[in-house]
Parts: sequence; structure tokens; C-alpha cells
Amino acid sequence: MRRWSELAERIAATSRTSEKTGLLRDYITSLSSDELPIAAVFLTGRPFAETDQRAPGLGWAAIAATVTTLAGVSRSTLGEAYDRSSDLGIAVMDVLAQAGHAPDPAQAPTLPEVAATYAAVEAASGPARKGEVFAGLLARCDPLTAKYVVKVLSGDLRIGLREGLVDAALAQAFGRDLDRVKWAGMLLGDIGRLALLAREDRLGEAELTIFHPIKSMLASPTEDAAEILSRLGPTVWIEDKYDGIRAQLHKRGQTVRLFSRELHDISSGYPEIIEAASVLTWDGVLDGELLAHRDGTVLPFVALQGRLGRKEPSAAVRTTVPVVYVAFDVLGLAAPGSGHVDALLAEPLQERRRRLTMLELPMLEEGGTFVLSHLASADSSAALELAFGAARARGNEGLMIKDPLSPYTPGRRGLGWLKMKKALATIDCVVVGVEVGHGKRHGVLSDYTFAVRDEASGRLLTIGKAYSGLTDAELGDMTRWFEDHTVSKHGRYHLVEPTVVVEVAFDAILRSNRHKSGFTLRFPRIARLRPDKKADQADTVGVVRRLYGDLQAGTEHLVTAAARDTAGADADPDADADPVADADPVAGPGGG
Ligand code: AMP
Repeated sequence: MRRWSELAERIAATSRTSEKTGLLRDYITSLSSDELPIAAVFLTGRPFAETDQRAPGLGWAAIAATVTTLAGVSRSTLGEAYDRSSDLGIAVMDVLAQAGHAPDPAQAPTLPEVAATYAAVEAASGPARKGEVFAGLLARCDPLTAKYVVKVLSGDLRIGLREGLVDAALAQAFGRDLDRVKWAGMLLGDIGRLALLAREDRLGEAELTIFHPIKSMLASPTEDAAEILSRLGPTVWIEDKYDGIRAQLHKRGQTVRLFSRELHDISSGYPEIIEAASVLTWDGVLDGELLAHRDGTVLPFVALQGRLGRKEPSAAVRTTVPVVYVAFDVLGLAAPGSGHVDALLAEPLQERRRRLTMLELPMLEEGGTFVLSHLASADSSAALELAFGAARARGNEGLMIKDPLSPYTPGRRGLGWLKMKKALATIDCVVVGVEVGHGKRHGVLSDYTFAVRDEASGRLLTIGKAYSGLTDAELGDMTRWFEDHTVSKHGRYHLVEPTVVVEVAFDAILRSNRHKSGFTLRFPRIARLRPDKKADQADTVGVVRRLYGDLQAGTEHLVTAAARDTAGADADPDADADPVADADPVAGPGGG
């Protein structure tokens, strides 16, 4: 693990992509078969592979407790170290170095030992036992190794390793075609296995398999019709954007499974879909959205909230909140009983849609529980605007704009799909700080400071603060969670582990020096929690910059009005921000 940590340091120290790839290639070539998959997974900043459903379950508070005990320092010493770097791994290294922590190098943990400890932490029950297991590992790590053991465990690597660089290094190290490596990587969702297949020249074995969910294709946000057409045009496909739950449907014989965007098996929550699909004659994999739908009307997302999770719904819930499966893609099909799936991912969308329409799904209008996504095409801004209004009138969120020639790229937020929610602009932000509310919300951590990630530096930069629009029950749950995941306290302000993603609605984006992102939101509101998104899937400063441009072009009057309003303190979205929040807790007071 020490060598891996040194490699990570060297990658972080250079900004040149070719140098990073070269370092990775040489390192990868030097590894044994035992080490290779582990090293590759750790390089993605995760303790377990992406498709692995395990999570270590050791929060920052527990990590902090382990470190302070080992170093014999107080929590505030660690808090101060964290404030200097905004980086838990660096803070741990600094604290251990200052404490003169120098274990016997002969006891230094190997990569397989670190991986085994992460697995043991996950398997241990309760924070105390998990902490003990982790403490055993940390005691054997010198400060630099400890930095990276903590970074990987907490999923916060940030060494400037762009997605795809490890793929490129694997291709170079083993002399394989980069496109084949990438393709196999998307199908596997496990870079460790990918590394082994690349080494052994077995990339062809990576294939779509029924009941092995793959990551969902993602969409980039956009607001501007003209831009959409210039990117994907001249003619684009437009589907309604349904406000439900993304679900991949896998079917073989009479067995049907639904997987969430996080690749969790959520079948038990939606028996009406499972039952309806189990009698169909084809085997394969669909992509779609679970949507609450009753008496011919789309129900708002909040209605679905009672059906989240894996709990089997009661008969009453099934009647009040019936769900339908809106199918919008087919990823693979197999002739019944053949076992072999023909992956359709590389086929253009128009071909996949053709195959989808031939599946004879039991449609809602015939008493079934399936719907095909509403599809039309557009070749002008006016047509897009019209379609947007029509989608909203049908009770949906907006439009998904798709390039009919695009392949299905799992896990990628490319430009093959764009999402247009316009009238209700939202961005997905990471909560970095929380505060106790006032009045009715006294004693509850109800005020959230949130951030977007800067692509270049990987840092989270604050963009705003809002009173949470969550329900009391959600607030209560989140308060407990944030208390367990507080890194340090500054008066009322808790600096928290940056893992919770919230969808923030707003009226306008403004330039502002108040927040480190360089932007602020006018009238921000927490629209909802996004438990389906991880921090690295939240929106970025680049997205905000683009939305800012789009919104400005489309709604100059609003931006002007907002600028005028914010000149007076009354409508200043952050007028109440306190000094600690202003100092940008994520970048650290002097951190920049
Ligand atoms: P967002 O969750 O805001 O990032 O938007 C992307 C999500 O929109 C996807 O993950 C899907 O769950 C959802 N969605 C709704 N309708 C569609 C559609 N017609 N095609 C693709 N995704 C859709």
C-alpha cells in the first residue's frame, strides 16, 4: 500500500495527462495478479468495485475517533488540521506525522491486506466494532499510507485522475485497444476485473448478463433549445422526462428483477411490475422509469416517496399509489432459453427503440402496467419549446433530448442525451455544512450549505445555503445522520462529510464572490434529497457556468431583475449566511 500511496502522490503532483498515464502504466505493469485488481479499484477512489453493493459504513466521525485515539490528540486538533486542507486524508496524515507515528515498516500492510480490512470493516456490525477493525489497520500505516487508506475508505481520493486514465494506462500496459478496454469497462463496472481481463487478453468475456445490472446512461442538463439543436441536430428525438425512479428491468424466464440506479435490487417494492413482466415471452434487459400513475394521470414524485426502498407495499399503498414502468430503452435481448444475450448497447438509439416497440409489453391502456416513453422529434427551437410545454401539461418534468444515432453508454454523462427541465431549473449539490434552525426548527439541523465540484481541482466549492424544504420526518433522519457524520463544529455550524446530494431549485444563477464557486443562487430551495446520487454524480461548476450562460441568454429580464434585487440586502439569497459559512468551510478559511 505504501507504493500505491507514493504513486498517488506522484500522480497528484503532475498536471500532465501523458505523465500521469505513464506513471500508471509503469506501476500497473509491475503488479502481481493479486495486487492488480485491488490497485485498480483503489485508483477509482473506492474501497470496493463500482458494481459491488457493499459500503464500509464507517463514517467520518468514526474515522476521526480512530485517528485521534491512535495519535493521542483531541478532536479539535484534527478539526483544525481538516480546516487547513479541507481534506480528511491530509488531515489524518498531518495529525499522525505530528504525533510521531512511525510503525515498523516490516508490518506495513500490503494491498490485499488493506482490501481485506475494508471488507472486514464492512462485515463488522456497529460503529464500535468497525472502528476497532479499522484501528488495527491504521496502526500499521505510516502517515502517508494512512492518508490514502483513509481517502480510499471514505471515497474521496482527489488526485486529479480523470475518469478514463486508468483505462488508457491498462491499454498501454498490456498492449490492448483502448476502445475495447473502455467498452469492456462499461459493461463490467468493475475496473479490477477489467484489469485482469486486459492483462490476460480476455476482454471479449465482458458481456451484458441478465441479472447483472449495468450503470445507467446519464444526461447532461441544458436549458437552451438552440444549443440543443446545434449539438444533437438537425433533428433530435424528444421524450418526456418522467419524474420517477430509474429502474433497469432484467428478465429471464419467469424471473424478473428491477435494479435501481445505484444497482440495488428493488424488485420487492414493485410487485405489480414484476408480476406483469414475468409472463412475457422474451428475455432481456430494459431501461426505464418507475412512475406513480393513477386514473390516467401522472402523480407527482412525492406520491412515490412512500414506495421507496425495498419494502413490499401494502394492498392499500398499491391502490393509492399504483406504479407503471415507462420503458425507454432496451439494452439486450436473448432468444428464450438461449442464455446468451445480444447486447444492443452499441446499436443506435433508433434501432433500440424499434426493438423495444416490438416487445409487446402489456400496455397501460390495455389494463397493463407498462408505457412506452412519449417520443416525438423536433428540428427547430419552436418545436422544442412546444414539446416542452406539452410534456409539462402531461404532468412530466420536462424533456429528455436524445440523439437517435447515439449508442447506450453506461455510466457516462455524455451529450447523447440532454435533459431539459427549464421552467424549474435545478442543480444537484453536495451538502457540506449544516446548521441548527431557528424557531420551530430549533434543535434540528435544517439549514444546509451546499457545493458543486470544480472539475479541475476536484474540490467542492460552495454555491449557496438554504433552509431545507424537506419534511419533518426527513429532517429528523437527516439531523441524526449529520450528527454522526460531523467532521468539526464551529458554533452552530457543523462541517459535515460531503456525501449527501440534494436537488436545489432556484430562480436565477448570479455571479458572486460570496461563495467559492463564483456563483450564487437566487431563492434557492431544497427540492428533495437525492439518495440515488453519490457526491461524484452531483453537478459541477462547469454545469453551473453553462446554465448561467443559458439562463442569461434566455431570461435576461430575470437576471437583470435579480441583480437589481440583490443590490438591496432584502432579496440577497445569502443575507443570513454566517461568518463561518462565508469563509467557505470546504475550501478552508485560507484554502482558496
Ligand atoms: P436527473 O435525475 O435529473 O439527473 O435526470 C436523469 C434521469 O431522468 C434519469 O436517470 C431517469 O431516471 C430520468 N428520466 C425520466 N424520463 C426519462 C427518459 N425518457 N429517458 C431517460 N431518462 C429519463
